[in-house]
Amino acid sequence: MRCEFFFIVIYVRFHKAQRFVNFSVSRQYIILSALWMDAMGAETQSTHDERRFRGRIGVTLTLFLVVLAIVPNTVLTVLVTRAANEQARVQAENQLESIVEFRSQEIQRMLESGRDVLNSVVEDTLQHARITTTVEARDRRLAPAEQVDEYLTEILEDQNVFTELVLYTLDGEVRSATNADLIGHSVAGAPYFLASLDGNTVHPIYYDEATGELYLMSTRVVTAVSGGTVGVLAGRHDLNVLYDLLSSYVGLGSTGETYLVNQDRLLVSPSRFEDTVLAAAYESEGINRALAGQSGAASYEGYRQVPVIGAYRWLPTLQAALLAEIDQAEALQVGYQIERLSLLAAFILVVVSMSLGLGLTLWITRPLQALTKTATLVASGDYSQRTDVARTNEVGQLAYAFNKMTDQLVQTIGELDKHIEDLKEAKARVEEASRLKDDFLAVMSHELRTPLNASIGLLGLLEMDGKLDEEGIYMVRRARANNNRLLDLINNILDITRIEAGRMQLVPSEVDLRGMVTRLAQDMEILAEQKGLEFNVQIDDDVPQTLHTDPDALLKISTNLLSNAFKFTAHGSVTWQIMRQNGHIVMKVKDTGIGIPAHMHETIFERFRQVDSSSKRVHGGSGLGLSIVQRLCQAMKGSVHVESALGEGSTFIVTIPLSGS
Ligand code: ADP
Repeated sequence: MRCEFFFIVIYVRFHKAQRFVNFSVSRQYIILSALWMDAMGAETQSTHDERRFRGRIGVTLTLFLVVLAIVPNTVLTVLVTRAANEQARVQAENQLESIVEFRSQEIQRMLESGRDVLNSVVEDTLQHARITTTVEARDRRLAPAEQVDEYLTEILEDQNVFTELVLYTLDGEVRSATNADLIGHSVAGAPYFLASLDGNTVHPIYYDEATGELYLMSTRVVTAVSGGTVGVLAGRHDLNVLYDLLSSYVGLGSTGETYLVNQDRLLVSPSRFEDTVLAAAYESEGINRALAGQSGAASYEGYRQVPVIGAYRWLPTLQAALLAEIDQAEALQVGYQIERLSLLAAFILVVVSMSLGLGLTLWITRPLQALTKTATLVASGDYSQRTDVARTNEVGQLAYAFNKMTDQLVQTIGELDKHIEDLKEAKARVEEASRLKDDFLAVMSHELRTPLNASIGLLGLLEMDGKLDEEGIYMVRRARANNNRLLDLINNILDITRIEAGRMQLVPSEVDLRGMVTRLAQDMEILAEQKGLEFNVQIDDDVPQTLHTDPDALLKISTNLLSNAFKFTAHGSVTWQIMRQNGHIVMKVKDTGIGIPAHMHETIFERFRQVDSSSKRVHGGSGLGLSIVQRLCQAMKGSVHVESALGEGSTFIVTIPLSGS
């Protein structure tokens, strides 16, 4: 994928550049071709790589789309759910608080109507005397108690707050009651008794274990005309009235309820849930707060160990906690629904994204694969391949450009092939001409050598004849020297021609190395004497007596290097060192002559190369000696190089293997 992308980028860049620069189309395509081949070579070496490529783009696209689908949806879901939950929670709390308010008002009204009933009884002027007499008398029989009984029964029938009315003395003895069974009994042990003597009040609901019933009592003191308290009128509330008030579940859904808890944490109103026991003790954060005198609303774990939203209030008159609660699961239902819907939406989006990813992958990769396949075939040498991608977009343009590029490539390769053919023909012609030239040179040199050798020999005889005067001897010597130089040149030309034509065959044999050195040194002594130079020959002890090599080649190398040393040295010395190093014979020819500039150290080994090639040069020579030396060294699997600086002399170092040359 990386390479496709790279190619597309390159292509687009060239495409743009072409608008501004008059860029040769053919060159553009050749460059593109090179880039394409390079990219294809690296990326599509095997079908395995192609499969990997398709997999990657598919996975990337699908992942991208899935992430695109999931992330915003998740964020939105979280935000919306949180907002909806918060909204539902606030709404539920408000609703519960107003229900608590409403219920507490209703309870208050109920209690007030109870108080009114008690007041109306005690304050009834017609009955007052009877009532006070009944509680003040030492004995019920001494008082108009029966009339009071009747009166209380009448009153009880006229109202619906109380189920019983009881009149008792300050000692707690019941003097009159709507329930005849109670008359004569004592209420001094009842939880409300002592408090009832202190004033008019509603007493906390309590549970009487003897009867197994809950009691809510309102009391009103009976005062004598003189002003002192003489007894108490108590009314037992009809708790069903209270329960009716609390059991209206309007606005509380299917899990909401309102209930009362007394100071002992006893549930004093029935719950709507069957597993809850009336008058049993319960606990929750809402109950605790209300019992601590607080009012408000909160989310907490309800007394049934279920998370609830609840409003709580302490009812001071009733000395009880009033709570309205609803299960969180119900109150926050909207939030949960949104959450569920969002999850469903996310799932659908993922499925859609994956399908889209798959479709897009196929849409994108199919033409690119076709293109890649064609490019791979073209890269492997099948230039007849063309891609048939028929898209009208950039991929189509790419395919079109690729086909054109391949056409151009075919044309260029055709032209190159033709050039190569032409060059091959030209090379063959040149080689033939060179061969003819070499043959000609060899023949010519050979033909020249014979008369020259004869001429040198005759001149030698003439010189030794003794008939010549001094001037004659001088002229003969000059003629002989010039003939020798000519012979050297011809020999060199013959050698180099043979070497280059591959006709120079080395014939190795056991050469008496030390003997050859001694003989050549003696010959060179003459040169040294002629030029007034010191000539040193150093041959190390470990140098073997014999060497397995071609004797002529070894002699030519030594002679050429020593001749040059004497030729290019006017003062000082020439030193010839022969030593043994790492399985090689190393031969150094060192002089104190004119030296060779550093830039010529390589080139002087080329044919006809001379440091001073001007017409005014002092030293003669053809420039073939070192070239022959180098070729012979190479043929002997050795090497030659020079260490020299201008004006500081030169050292030529030849290295020849001890064996196998
Ligand atoms: P030539 O026949 O000119 O000596 P060579 O191939 O033997 O041809 O040498 C090539 C050139 O290398 C010489 O012309 C000379 O300029 C330089 N050369 C060779 N040997 C020496 C040397 N010992 N000192 C200085 N220059 C040298």
